[in-house]
Amino acid sequence: MTRDYLGRPLKDLRISITDRCNFRCDYCMPPEIFGEDYEFLPRSEILSYEDIILLVKAMLPLGLEKVRITGGEPLLRKDIAILISMIRKCDQDLDIALTTNGSLLARFAKDLATSGLDRVTVSLDAIDDSIVKKISNSNLGSKNIIDGVKAALDNGLNVKINTVVVKNYNENQIIPILNIFYRMDVLVRFIEYMDVGGTKDWKPEQVVFGNQIRKLISAEYGDLTPVAGQKYGEVANLWTLPNGYQIGFIESISKPFCNSCTRVRVSANGSLYTCLFSETGHDLKSLIKMGADINDLTEAISTVWSNRADRYSEIRNTSSQDKVPVEMHFIGG
Ligand code: SAM
Ligand code: SF4
Ligand code: SF4
Repeated sequence: MTRDYLGRPLKDLRISITDRCNFRCDYCMPPEIFGEDYEFLPRSEILSYEDIILLVKAMLPLGLEKVRITGGEPLLRKDIAILISMIRKCDQDLDIALTTNGSLLARFAKDLATSGLDRVTVSLDAIDDSIVKKISNSNLGSKNIIDGVKAALDNGLNVKINTVVVKNYNENQIIPILNIFYRMDVLVRFIEYMDVGGTKDWKPEQVVFGNQIRKLISAEYGDLTPVAGQKYGEVANLWTLPNGYQIGFIESISKPFCNSCTRVRVSANGSLYTCLFSETGHDLKSLIKMGADINDLTEAISTVWSNRADRYSEIRNTSSQDKVPVEMHFIGG
């Protein structure tokens, strides 16, 4: 197992398979920037499925346990079920997950499950259709996404919901979201709005902290109790309602978790990033183009990882921070 400069192992690969998306969430791909003239990556620059498999195989000897496929919207990429079965063939024990906006999930859930996917995280910030439409700048309502969640559950996939909470946007959707997913016994994780990528207008005042969200929930459902003994590398803090239902909180602003961050990220065009807030990546696609084999890639990734000292969220408030991090739709969150 390879460890970075701060002693953290490499366990999770998050790989973005496209920089395109059918939504234009205000906080990720604001329509005024990602309009009709925006130039997405050309096909030739996107990692092929064979390239992705080379990278997965190169990371397995370093201790890789989990692969998360993300985007952009990963379900827009053709034949994604084939990619999943190719990853599954690399290692039967790998945990394979997908993060999606859910809009196409009802259509693909069966194929995804059959191809060997273990879990899916569905991003949903509201139940009220007018708010869903306002945030995502799409014409879809929440029913379409909830139908996708149901299809995933029906096909045996483990499902979680991710909800980014932004002040004056969707705080009033916290309870409606729980009302729906509590009944389906699906874990909801509330995420503090982060200063990443396309969020050029991010302001600290827009963050709703985990403890504020818990206060709102407790007022409705009763006291929350923290779950003890959480797994190393787990980003969500779990709390339990009096009836036993668990809720997660990803509090990267108020409770950074850099000290156990085991994630390596690969962008749609094959650059490796050691932090969500990295400004530049390490170009693996060029290495592959030049003929690097699995051993060469293992060595290159191991060298990058052993020099990794990132801990942006822990030091975000220091005056030396003047970063322009990579775009979220490009690196996949
Ligand atoms: N399109 C897919 C989706 O929305 O699930 C996958 C890619 S998206 C970039 C991955 C996750 O990043 C989503 O859950 C999204 O809500 C989250 N995200 C995007 N911008 C964010 C921000 N500024 N702060 C917190 N989470 C953010
Ligand atoms: Fe698309 Fe996901 Fe970004 Fe929304 S958060 S614009 S769905 S990539
Ligand atoms: Fe990991 Fe970087 Fe996020 Fe810290 S800021 S948890 S190092 S991705």
